[in-house]
Amino acid sequence: MKGDKTAIIIGAGVGGIATAIQLAKNGYKIKVYEKNSAPGGRCGQIVREGHRFDLGATIFLMPSIYRDVFKSLGLTIEHNLKVKPLPVIYKIYYSDGKILDFTTDKGNIQSQLEMFEPGSVSKYQSYVSKGYGMFQTGMAKMLARNFYSFFEFANLKNAMLLFRLKTHVKHMAYVGRFFKDPHLKIAFTFQNIYLGQDPFTAPALFSLLPATELTEGSYVLAGGMYSIVEKLVSTAIDVGVEFRYNMPVDKITVEKDKARSIILENGDEIKAGIIVANADLPYVYRELLPDKKRSARIDGLKYSCSAISFHWALDKVYPQLGDHSVFVAEKYRESLDKIFDENSMSDEPCFYVHAPVGEDPTAAPANQDSISIIVPVGHLDDKNEQDWDHLKQVARASVIKRLKKQGMEDIEEHIKFEICFMPKTWDTELHITKGSVFGSVSHNIFQMGYFRPHNRHDRYKNLYFVGGSTHPGNGVPLVLMSSKLTTERIMKEADNK
Ligand SMILES: Cc1cc2nc3c(=O)[nH]c(=O)nc-3n(C[C@H](O)[C@H](O)[C@H](O)COP(=O)(O)OP(=O)(O)OC[C@H]3O[C@@H](n4cnc5c(N)ncnc54)[C@H](O)[C@@H]3O)c2cc1C
Repeated sequence: MKGDKTAIIIGAGVGGIATAIQLAKNGYKIKVYEKNSAPGGRCGQIVREGHRFDLGATIFLMPSIYRDVFKSLGLTIEHNLKVKPLPVIYKIYYSDGKILDFTTDKGNIQSQLEMFEPGSVSKYQSYVSKGYGMFQTGMAKMLARNFYSFFEFANLKNAMLLFRLKTHVKHMAYVGRFFKDPHLKIAFTFQNIYLGQDPFTAPALFSLLPATELTEGSYVLAGGMYSIVEKLVSTAIDVGVEFRYNMPVDKITVEKDKARSIILENGDEIKAGIIVANADLPYVYRELLPDKKRSARIDGLKYSCSAISFHWALDKVYPQLGDHSVFVAEKYRESLDKIFDENSMSDEPCFYVHAPVGEDPTAAPANQDSISIIVPVGHLDDKNEQDWDHLKQVARASVIKRLKKQGMEDIEEHIKFEICFMPKTWDTELHITKGSVFGSVSHNIFQMGYFRPHNRHDRYKNLYFVGGSTHPGNGVPLVLMSSKLTTERIMKEADNK
């Protein structure tokens, strides 16, 4: 296989497409096999009757990572996407009627914070600057680099680093050092849920999430998050990548310490010098590879939470909904315990709403909207099965009740059609293990860095992984970073052969 510059990529998610571009630019001949009829995976798109929904990802977070990875792909955000800064990143609606606009406008957020907790402005400044410092250090030392051996990761310097990155402190306890007001404690920690984490148990390192939002801001993309996928696909085609849709991969064949080929569901066998799996890593170990011992070990890791998503085509616009809105449950702690301790959902869950037409009128016909609601819920658990049909009805009723309370009394009458993704749907449609959509393998400190499932198989030396379930983790920016790291590793190992 020496000198063989052919590669197969399994899956056309963001991670798979970005890796295809990087490898093609390094002289590889790439074929991408995708099970579904279109690219994007969890950053995909649904279009129906003039309504356009982002299937999963809706928020453009951490622009500095996009800039970095786009540069390596020969792209820039400003030239290759239609972006504009989003002044209010999201509105947070509390159950007592209070509202906080989470915004990069310093004067605006500071005056709001003073109303919630007099004297909190200097605390907020300190929290954000410390959190952003952790983001920068975390990126440089842990997230934006490969670890090729255990000793590179587990040395005294890194032990000090983990201490500095507050991996030993729980985020909710840490935020309590800055704010006393419960609204503010929630506002600066709920972002853990983006990574499928419980703010009460996640490490304080993840204060980097709100800090990065408030420092770097967020953007609106004309065409939604799917416009990123469209740009990546067109770039990939320009550099010679071939995409094969409706082509589920059924098996990866192996020979001694090498992956030999893929077998498609239609029986065809395709060989290549390297194989990069973008499909969910635990699924690949379990369903596509022969080694059941390794797969059982990965199945035994801790998994992130799942989500119920409702996509509603509305024949009315509700301007009171901002582009992104977060609705906090009255019993916040209990609602999180239901997700993370019981793999279930409370009767009144927290949820998030994306209402795009205010910023991007192309998302729906005139005077209509295409809203997406995401309700975080527990992941699928064989030992603790839930009545998901029932939970779906509870989630729907609770969301409607809350939106009515917020002045959208007639919303139910204006739903033209609904598309719903349940934990099981994420598994059947995209092969996400346990429906754990936020990275499948969760982001606790024992499952990050060198401890996260590696981006190369330990035994099959030409089988690589890219995406949310390998290093560095979940979310479109980190998945893009993952494509850069996996490519770097492939190129380094190819040079050493
Ligand atoms: C509800 C929700 C909300 C989110 N919100 C945000 C957000 O606001 N911002 C953000 O940055 N991120 C968000 N994310 C996370 C983000 O969407 C993901 O991290 C990212 O899209 C994952 O990309 P990926 O390349 O790792 O994998 P995937 O998108 O899962 O792609 C893997 C691809 O592999 C394909 N595949 C699977 N099995 C096979 C097979 N056997 N053969 C061939 N192909 C196969 C799948 O069909 C899929 O297309 C959200 C995710 C969800 C679900």
